[in-house]
Amino acid sequence: TKKESRNGYRFFSNQMQLQSTRHLQLMNAMRQAITLGQMAVYYQPQMDLTTQKIVGVEALLRWKHPQLGYISPAEFIPLAESSGLIITIGSWVLEQAVQQIQQWQAAGIQDIRVSVNLSSIQFRDPGLPALVQEILQRYAVLPQSLELELTEGVALENPQGAVAMMDALAQLGVRLSIDDFGTGYSSLSYLKRFKVYKLKVDQSFVRDISTDDEDKAIVIAIIHLARSLGLKTIAEGVETPEQQAFLLSQGCDEMQGYLLSRPINSEQTTAFLLAHRPG
Ligand code: C2E
Ligand code: CA
Ligand code: CA
Ligand code: CA
Repeated sequence: TKKESRNGYRFFSNQMQLQSTRHLQLMNAMRQAITLGQMAVYYQPQMDLTTQKIVGVEALLRWKHPQLGYISPAEFIPLAESSGLIITIGSWVLEQAVQQIQQWQAAGIQDIRVSVNLSSIQFRDPGLPALVQEILQRYAVLPQSLELELTEGVALENPQGAVAMMDALAQLGVRLSIDDFGTGYSSLSYLKRFKVYKLKVDQSFVRDISTDDEDKAIVIAIIHLARSLGLKTIAEGVETPEQQAFLLSQGCDEMQGYLLSRPINSEQTTAFLLAHRPG
């Protein structure tokens, strides 16, 4: 009836208002979050499944607001994207990560690759390759130590531009991986044209690998597809030894997930890497 729909509408609009109030609050607070020291880059270790060596870490942004507490990147990254602030925040994460590589190398921790998540907004910024190059030079870090994670969506809007951007980044010597692989909408043909190094099997497929035959089939297909194209694979969200054993048996190259470690802060990561140093 009319009455119900009006109530329904009012409820909806109240919800929207509540949400947008929080969003405005977060967007405002985010502008100062870096300068106020509220943001930090955490790292989650990645292991080679065959050698069981730690080969890299993924940089994951954390934000602790003094009143609101920890805010999930799943909530604030989209807001940073819609406000354009992701360019500033993303550059900061990139610099933190590269500086961290330099510090680890100075501490004798060699051959650790750091992967940094790249928003599609950053990816469309023509200044990105120059920025990456400048940061690497400033900290005297080799480009092979840096990996950039992109989602399949980057190719959607402007495939031509995406190919050019990937070429420019690959030219620098940094490695590119496709995050959340299998969840996007892009066709597989772009894998042929893009200078991709690695596919990241999305955690939604890994989660039920031991019980769900379809997820199992998808994971096997991704690993085999990657191998036949000469690409590496890493599985994310690995939480159980069963998942690890299955991934190893299928020839997946690397794993990342709570089974190995949660994302940890810089000091904890240094300790983790020292403890897991080969030899
Ligand atoms: P993502 O890139 O897919 O990162 C993986 C997410 O899975 C992380 O969530 C990580 O903490 C979580 N995770 C890792 N291992 C496990 C596991 O074993 N089980 C489960 N259930 N979860 C696991 P987080 O840190 O909350 O980040 C969420 C998303 O926010 C990321 O998804 C990424 O898309 C985005 N994000 C985080 N940091 C940055 C950043 O610096 N820049 C950009 N553009 N996006 C970022
Ligand atoms: Ca990622
Ligand atoms: Ca992912
Ligand atoms: Ca994900």
